[in-house]
Amino acid sequence: MAQPLDVAHHRGENLLAITWADGSRSELPIPYLRGWCPCAQCQGHGDVVRFHEPPAEVTAVGLHEMGAYALGIRFSDGHDAGIYSWTWLRQLAPESPPLGRKSGLFRAGRFEPA
Ligand SMILES: [Zn+2]
Repeated sequence: MAQPLDVAHHRGENLLAITWADGSRSELPIPYLRGWCPCAQCQGHGDVVRFHEPPAEVTAVGLHEMGAYALGIRFSDGHDAGIYSWTWLRQLAPESPPLGRKSGLFRAGRFEPA
């Protein structure tokens, strides 16, 4: 299971930088994370999670750890329903296959490009 050693919010660059227990580091832009919000309001109920074009200029106004397994993010558009598990954040990371930012969908945890 993906575990972070450190999570840093870089407001100037509008991204989260996560250092993982295996020593790798991921940079995740806040709008990218907003687009991949996994909550039921954004995604409905099912096994498909799609990328939704985020509001322009969206930022993070709050972060909170949820137990040992996830991060909650409060976005500047008021949305805060997403529970970003470390596993989910790791899947979204540009270093995770397929390389680069993902757009498209995950079906039952498997990525399908747009
Ligand atoms: Zn959501």
